[in-house]
Amino acid sequence: MTSVLYPDLPENGLIVLIGASGAGKSTLARTWPASQVLSLDGLRGMVGDDPGRQDVTADAADVLKLILERRMARKLNTVIDATNVEQSVRVELVMAAKRHGMPTVAVVVATPLDVCLERQGPRPDNRRVPEDTVRAQHQARVHSHQQLAAEGFNTVVFADALYRLEPFLKRLSQVREAELGRDGSAGLGDLLLVRRFFGSEVLPLWRWRPGSDLVTGRDRLAEIRLGQQSLILAFRDDVDGEGDFGFDVLLPCPFDAECAGQAWAPVYSVTDLYKALTGAMDSDPDIVCTVHGDGVDDDQDDDPEGRADLEAQYADAVA
Ligand code: GDP
Ligand code: MG
Repeated sequence: MTSVLYPDLPENGLIVLIGASGAGKSTLARTWPASQVLSLDGLRGMVGDDPGRQDVTADAADVLKLILERRMARKLNTVIDATNVEQSVRVELVMAAKRHGMPTVAVVVATPLDVCLERQGPRPDNRRVPEDTVRAQHQARVHSHQQLAAEGFNTVVFADALYRLEPFLKRLSQVREAELGRDGSAGLGDLLLVRRFFGSEVLPLWRWRPGSDLVTGRDRLAEIRLGQQSLILAFRDDVDGEGDFGFDVLLPCPFDAECAGQAWAPVYSVTDLYKALTGAMDSDPDIVCTVHGDGVDDDQDDDPEGRADLEAQYADAVA
C-alpha cells in the first residue's frame, strides 16, 4: 500500500536525509515510526548525555553504523537523520545497504540557507549550530546534489516532493484511537484526564484504589507509588458541587500535628505533585482538612482560577 501511494519510496530501504542544520530533517524523520529513525543527535545524546556534544560524534556514528548494519540484515526500513552532507559519510551508508541488497533513497532537504539560519535562533544553546557551520553544510548540500546518483543512490528526491503528512497523521490517529478505546481495546479511560493534568510519564505509576468512596460515593482515590515514596490523590468529579473536576493530594494537616483527619489540597500539574512530595505544599493556603476545614471562617475561596475550566478540559480529553 505504501508503495502504491508513495511511488518514490520503497517499502523497505535505506532513506538518507541530506540537509543543513535547521533544514527540517528531524521534523521529516518523525513522520516515520520512531524505531525506524537513526538520529545522530539522538545517539550523541545516548553516548554523551548531550545531543549537541561534538566530541562524541565519532562514537555516535559508530553506534549508528552498527545499528544500521543489524537492521539492514533484517531488511528493515531505516531513515538516517543526520546532515549527511559529506560524500564519505553517504558512501559508507550506501555501501552498507548494497551489501544487504537494500534499495537506497537520498532525500534532499533543500531548505534555503536563511531559513536554516533563522531556525537556529530559538534552539537551546547546546543545539544551536554556529552560522559558519550551517553555511558550510548548506554549501556542501548544494554541491553534493549532482553526485548522488553516481554515489549509488537508487532514488534521489527532494523532501518537498514527498507525501509524508498523510502517513504521519495516520499513525498519530491510530495512537489516538487506541487511547480512546475506539480500536476495540480498553483504551486509557480515566487515565486520559490523569495524563492531561500530570503528563504521560506518571501513568505507569498511577493506581486507582478499588472501592474508595471518600466524601461522596463518586470521588475516587488513587496512588502514585515508586518504591518507598508515594502520594495519595483524590479525584473529585464535582468539586464544591458546581460540576468542576479536579485532583487533590493528601497532605499532613497544617492546623494540628496530631489531627486524625485528612488534609487535601488541589493539584494541577506534575510540579504540584513534586511540591507535595517534597513538603513544599505543606502550608498551601488551599489546604482543606476534614476536621479543621480551611482554617478560616468564611467559606468563599474555592479556587478563583484553576478549576473554572476543568470540566471543559475533561470534555476535551475524552472527545
Ligand atoms: P534539522 O536540524 O534539519 O533536523 O531541522 P528540524 O527538523 O529540527 O527543524 C527545525 C525547525 O524547523 C522545526 O522545529 C520546525 O519548527 C521547523 N520545520 C522544519 N521542517 C518543517 C516543515 O516541513 N514544516 C513546518 N511547518 N515547519 C518545519
Ligand atoms: Mg535534527
